[in-house]
Amino acid sequence: MSIQAIQQAIEEFNTIIIHRHVRPDPDALGSQAGLRELIKASYPMKQVYVVGEDDPSLTFMVEMDQISDDVFENALIIICDTANTGRIDDSRYQLGAKIIKIDHHPNVDPYGDISWVDTTASSTSELIYEFFVTAEGLTMNAATARLLYGGIVGDTGRFLFPSTTKKTLQYAAELVTYDFDRTQLYDGIYNVKDHIARMRGYILQNFTLDSDGLSVVKLTRDILNQFHVSPLETGQLVGTLGEIDGILAWVFFIEEEDQIRVRLRSKGPVINEVAAKYRGGGHPLASGASIYSWDEAEHVVQDLKETIKQFNR
Ligand code: AMP
Repeated sequence: MSIQAIQQAIEEFNTIIIHRHVRPDPDALGSQAGLRELIKASYPMKQVYVVGEDDPSLTFMVEMDQISDDVFENALIIICDTANTGRIDDSRYQLGAKIIKIDHHPNVDPYGDISWVDTTASSTSELIYEFFVTAEGLTMNAATARLLYGGIVGDTGRFLFPSTTKKTLQYAAELVTYDFDRTQLYDGIYNVKDHIARMRGYILQNFTLDSDGLSVVKLTRDILNQFHVSPLETGQLVGTLGEIDGILAWVFFIEEEDQIRVRLRSKGPVINEVAAKYRGGGHPLASGASIYSWDEAEHVVQDLKETIKQFNR
């Protein structure tokens, strides 16, 4: 079973380096750093590092380690919350001796010497907690609990999304018995700077909504500059349309330097097949893609319209 194989590999290696996907969200960081804390508390002699680029809006959760290439030699690499190798933050994972994948996204790219993928889990942080309860003799502490709880809260939209199961709530209930500051965690995840709030106002004023229930938001470079919002920060905005009656699926087009990033969300129609068609992927109801012109954006919109029409039929 993967959990035993993963524990065995952790016991075998003295150096362990944990990665996650680019443009991290709370679950990517929570699972990555939560696993680091779990291993450190359970095996204090091991060297455990977390790598990737920091996102300034999430450094309240954890800051990444800076390590040189030679640390990767003979290291065990664990990659959390990342479906495909193209999205692994820090490509030096390839220098490691053994690779483990732990994820809850559809397994479109089954990489790694050991792989544990469970799409029924709300989050990868939930899987790390499952690893703790199933593996033998591991130690949970408040630092680990805080990170895993933050990851679960982030990926379930505060336990709102349908991915939230009885198990998710049970694990969350166990995690809150540890002594960490939940309010500080919620403030860190959900409080936004005033420029983000103003951009939210712009989005609420300008989103389109067609008769099938598709909403489209286009954030050009000009608009992003006007509100002083970086493309990375748009991650804090994409949920804005989730509470509007009549919207079944929505798409944000975000103009970056070299591409237009597509962020797709849905309340029913499966949209990750559209994402896959445009060099992307993700979950059935939350996915992303990359396109290279505003003409291509119109194709994405047409494909989404068709997907929603089929869902409504
Ligand atoms: P985002 O809009 O970046 O929050 O992404 C939503 C979901 O889609 C996340 O689970 C991502 O892992 C996934 N995702 C976003 N972009 C891509 C991509 N280019 N390829 C594969 N999955 C993606």
